[in-house]
Amino acid sequence: MKSLICEEPFSIQYIETPKPAIQADEVLLKIKAVGICGTDIHAFTGNQPFFSYPRILGHEICGLVEETGTDAPADLLGQFVVVIPAVACGVCPACKEGKTNCCEAISLYGVHQDGGFQDYLAVKVSNVIPVPNSIAPAAASLIECFAIGAHANRRAQSQAGENIVVVGAGPIGLGTAAIAQANGANVMVADVSEARREHAAKVLNLKTLNPLDDDYIEQLSQCFGGRLACTVMDATGNKASMTNSVNLIRHGGKIVFIGLYIGDLQLDDPTFHKKETTLIASRNATHEDFMRVIQLFENRAISEKVMVNQEFDFDTIGLDYENKVVNNKSLVKGVIHFS
Ligand SMILES: [Zn+2]
Ligand SMILES: [Zn+2]
Repeated sequence: MKSLICEEPFSIQYIETPKPAIQADEVLLKIKAVGICGTDIHAFTGNQPFFSYPRILGHEICGLVEETGTDAPADLLGQFVVVIPAVACGVCPACKEGKTNCCEAISLYGVHQDGGFQDYLAVKVSNVIPVPNSIAPAAASLIECFAIGAHANRRAQSQAGENIVVVGAGPIGLGTAAIAQANGANVMVADVSEARREHAAKVLNLKTLNPLDDDYIEQLSQCFGGRLACTVMDATGNKASMTNSVNLIRHGGKIVFIGLYIGDLQLDDPTFHKKETTLIASRNATHEDFMRVIQLFENRAISEKVMVNQEFDFDTIGLDYENKVVNNKSLVKGVIHFS
């Protein structure tokens, strides 16, 4: 079978590998579609923390179960599934509380171990969820990305009628905003990029703001009928943006940091305290979040079109990965199709 391997930064190539043999607790997936994530770009350019080479990338995976291990239910055979990329230890205190998304010994397919940029992948049966036939493989491959947003919304307990601003209109921000809308919230999206603002406004049919405008906070409050946001969800990983988040919320509001900034953050404590701010980190997603996204896809409350603007073939994407993916400025979200 064919695998696309990232040998070291700036080197990605096809190799022939044997079809994986599965363990008792695994299923063998024929890969059908894989979403391309920021990780798959940063790993190529050598900017991904906690990453080792060589690695087969791809963690947003939809596959068809072609074989089941002796401890896996046989009725999964022939079933389309989505992969939960985070393999959790099951015994640490976080896992025992059901927070497998922040397991102390977490390992992700496509990051810490090989992922979906290949024809077949052996995956633990605990890490696959059957996908109904009404959800096409390309959409199913994006369930993981939307689940990050579903998790952030669950952490924030976002509700109908709440004023929510999502800062950062990349795929994670777009997914987060789409889920908040599906929850019935009044959602605004802010991004410094005009192209991203235009994309968000078009696919989500909402108002967008530019954080670099002098009257950004006034505009925000105007959009929310004279009030600041109940919740800000920041998907930028940008220090200035995250520092400013406390200025965007009303008294009693919440901040959810989805994007990761590698360094120290500072918040103005008088503002933070005065508002009795709830500060929340959101990392990865759990089974429950994946199920929520599957339900929203089935109800057509969300669509993969919110993110996807380019599609590729597995047989050719590796030949020009740098231009078609890494340096492709018009790419919002790409999906790779497998034959
Ligand atoms: Zn991802
Ligand atoms: Zn654990």
